[in-house]
Amino acid sequence: MTDLPEKLYACCPIGVQNMLVSWYGRKILRERFGPEFQKIRASLASSERAGREEIGAYQDERLRAVVAHAYETVPYYGELMDRLDIRPSDISTRDDLRSLPILTREAVVENRERLLSTSRTRGRLRRATTSGTTGYPVSVCWDRGVSVMNNACLWRARDWGGVGFGRPYATLMGRLIVPARQTRPPFWRFNSSWNQLILSSYHLDEGNIPHYLDAMRERGIEMLEAYPSAAYMLARYMEMESVRLPLKSVLTSSEPLLAIQRELLEDRFCCRVLDAYGQAERVAFASECERHEGLHIFEEYGIVEILNEDGEPVEPGGSGQIVATGLHNMAMPLIRYATGDAATLKSEACSCGRTLRLLESITGKAEDIIVTSRGRMVPGPLLSYAFKGVPHLVRSQIVQERPDEIRVRLVAEKGFLPRDEERIRGGLARRLGSDVAIAFEYVDEIPMSARGKYRWVVSSVPLRWGKLSTANLYQEEDAETVGARSGHGDAN
Ligand SMILES: [Zn+2]
Repeated sequence: MTDLPEKLYACCPIGVQNMLVSWYGRKILRERFGPEFQKIRASLASSERAGREEIGAYQDERLRAVVAHAYETVPYYGELMDRLDIRPSDISTRDDLRSLPILTREAVVENRERLLSTSRTRGRLRRATTSGTTGYPVSVCWDRGVSVMNNACLWRARDWGGVGFGRPYATLMGRLIVPARQTRPPFWRFNSSWNQLILSSYHLDEGNIPHYLDAMRERGIEMLEAYPSAAYMLARYMEMESVRLPLKSVLTSSEPLLAIQRELLEDRFCCRVLDAYGQAERVAFASECERHEGLHIFEEYGIVEILNEDGEPVEPGGSGQIVATGLHNMAMPLIRYATGDAATLKSEACSCGRTLRLLESITGKAEDIIVTSRGRMVPGPLLSYAFKGVPHLVRSQIVQERPDEIRVRLVAEKGFLPRDEERIRGGLARRLGSDVAIAFEYVDEIPMSARGKYRWVVSSVPLRWGKLSTANLYQEEDAETVGARSGHGDAN
């Protein structure tokens, strides 16, 4: 949502907000769940058990279509391929892909308009901007084809979690669905079109969490789809109060899932956690299945290469960067896009019998939790929404050293204006509430952590649980990550 509808929505009474949420759900239902969706779902169900050759042949066929389309209608690729003296007919299989260079985030930022296909009506495209939390904010466009495919992949993951469309589920993700100033329940809205309880991730504190659990019980929720850190807060509270809430599954995405988080979630919700991976650029998708032996690469969605530092593909068992080619976005094809995430390719096949390759673990950026002076805990990924679409912003980081203040460090280019700072401040204030002051600091660069990782939100304020207080998430030196980053944002 952009600023204006967000502000208007916030002014409506709760009943009207529920109607708006359901209306939006119905609109999306029509856009993404038509006959085409059913067809893709059926084909995904069959291809996940097809032979490797059959899946490879499908990828090659889609690749040829994407490359030919890119050459003919995307100025960036037309010029690039001419310069390299490559014709579309030279790229007929996945092996040939390597004659094309890797597409960096920086190149996408610099060539944004030239990466758009001239064959699509611009007005009908969906635009999305990554938040620039890992470096350059990248603005991408999708057409309907990729939206439908992405949705079908999401439902494949939910199916693997044992919860099909229409069954009651809850989401605890980024949508600013309940104004931060609201202090009494309901801290959720209900999308009746999807049977989806949308929980606010911005109101999690000890006083409010019991209401969340009651709402989930009342609606008979079977699955929780959440940021790991947000779900973990619920689970920590449940542990403290010795409460359990049996579900069929918990589906996590968008940030690294820590082993300690997975363990506690499984214990409190009495089910397995299914971790998924995707990104706003819509080039790769992966998810665990019901056997939890790794994340299956959704090979129908994109061609995933795991490359070492020299740009060579790693052997099974090896680790490297995820470089991926989306097979469905004809509006803005991204070929060999460097996601910035790292993964390990598993050498064993999954015991579920699906032939989709497995990734052992995916590591993206790590983020802490912001603790406000009133004790609310706001997961780091939520704050990234305040930075989306802000121009001339190269990099950012949020540092919290005291409960009543955060410092926003910005690396900005020429052209970044005071009103851009105000926009970020407004977006953060809407999410953090009024009990946290926001200070800005302009810097030339933002260093990596001692362990070479980039943490976007760094908080040294302890998490408070009743009388207990524990370190913020990533302060434990060797916090093991077994998770993923994703931006699979639909009506979450
Ligand atoms: Zn499997």
